[in-house]
Amino acid sequence: MTVKTRFAPSPTGYLHVGGARTALYSWLYAKHNKGEFVLRIEDTDLERNSQEAVDAIMEGMEWLGLEWNEGPYFQTQRFDRYNEMVDRLLAEDKAYKCYASKELLDEVRAEQEANKEMARYDANHPKIKAVNEAAKDGDPCVIRFRNPTEGSVVFEDQIRGRIEISNSQMDDLIIRRTDGSPTYNFCVVVDDWDMEITHVIRGEDHINNTPRQINIYEALGAPVPTFAHCAMILGDDGAKLSKRHGAVSVMQYRDMGYLPEALNNYLVRLGWSHGDQEIFSQEEMIEFFSLNAISKSASAFNTDKLLWLNNHYIKTSAPEHVAKHLQWHLDQQALNIENGPAITQVIKLVGERCNTLVELAEQIRYFYEDFSEFEAGAAKKHLRGVAKEPLEAALAKVEAIEEWTTENLHQMIADVCADLEIGMGKIGMPLRVAVTGGGQSPSVDAVMQLIGQERCVARIKMALAFIAEREANA
Ligand code: GLU
Repeated sequence: MTVKTRFAPSPTGYLHVGGARTALYSWLYAKHNKGEFVLRIEDTDLERNSQEAVDAIMEGMEWLGLEWNEGPYFQTQRFDRYNEMVDRLLAEDKAYKCYASKELLDEVRAEQEANKEMARYDANHPKIKAVNEAAKDGDPCVIRFRNPTEGSVVFEDQIRGRIEISNSQMDDLIIRRTDGSPTYNFCVVVDDWDMEITHVIRGEDHINNTPRQINIYEALGAPVPTFAHCAMILGDDGAKLSKRHGAVSVMQYRDMGYLPEALNNYLVRLGWSHGDQEIFSQEEMIEFFSLNAISKSASAFNTDKLLWLNNHYIKTSAPEHVAKHLQWHLDQQALNIENGPAITQVIKLVGERCNTLVELAEQIRYFYEDFSEFEAGAAKKHLRGVAKEPLEAALAKVEAIEEWTTENLHQMIADVCADLEIGMGKIGMPLRVAVTGGGQSPSVDAVMQLIGQERCVARIKMALAFIAEREANA
């Protein structure tokens, strides 16, 4: 049997990290088993659902690379099918019409509470029975599923182990509302059956639905899938992860400069492990993923670890790949890279110093744009009278370099030190501030190589002019 999993979000907003993790686990499980992954949009709540949310969820999944083999299916397009199945259950007496009004149900509930009984729908309650017997065809009614009254539902959750719920704790669920619309728990079952889902991987907030759904599968004569309920994600304070803790939408992580593989790697480890391995290529995740290595307990979101992983992926991914994702940030920061060195070279040099692509985009402007001012603090400290002679010496040598290589630039700096009998510190920092405008950069010879000779010459001259002016004003 082909393994088939699904991700079934309700489109009420963006794709949040909890949903993304569920989607990732479902996707990985399908991939691991050479199976298929379905995207199904559970859009029956017309008041809370929107097309923007559908688009946002798909955008998030696409960005993460969680491509689906089938779908997206939309529940709103399948009402006929659900109703067909409701009618079938009605015909087989596995479901029935219930005419009890809301007022009556409230009254019965109040009575049950007063008697310290479990508040639930009770088809055998004399008042409800009387109403249902007296009703005529055509009176407004809901359709309820006839839940078994005896025995219990047992299932082997792939994460949480054996779960058993007594049927006496479940009441007769409404499967079609008075307005004719089928209800959520029913649609999910018909969908998972029709879509031949073998493994339902979802959040533990659905665990209470599972026994009810299993009874419906059985009533329909449908095979019951295997279930795996994932624990929650918590914020760093131990409360359920929410907006209060910062970014929760996947696309916000894109905006903050994460690579999708860093977020995937982070999310896969958030509640799943394979020995003590932290870094997983996509191939490794697929190879090693298993449901029984998912943790039963909630996991806490840790931004420092995500940053660490992001730095790892910026450092180790192919620069062309990083460049592809960096482009969005360059556009955001209005940095045009046409007039300067190959971005892949710049990424190789600067990438390892950055935890995010936002930082990377911020730190590389000087390769592409000239500046008219030096960073005040760095200039104050390093562009002083004492730097004049070393910078003049460097300028002369820089202008004379014939082959513009990092090695020759390295030699140039060494020669300045030797000629003037000064230490590296006396020329390195002034030169760095001169050519980059600030006090922080990778190795200055490599930086100068990428900036190019003409720009370096102009910038050293500008630094010398700055020093001259400063001295004149002193
Ligand atoms: N639509 C449900 C949700 O977004 C998921 C239901 C399921 O996975 O069975 O929470």
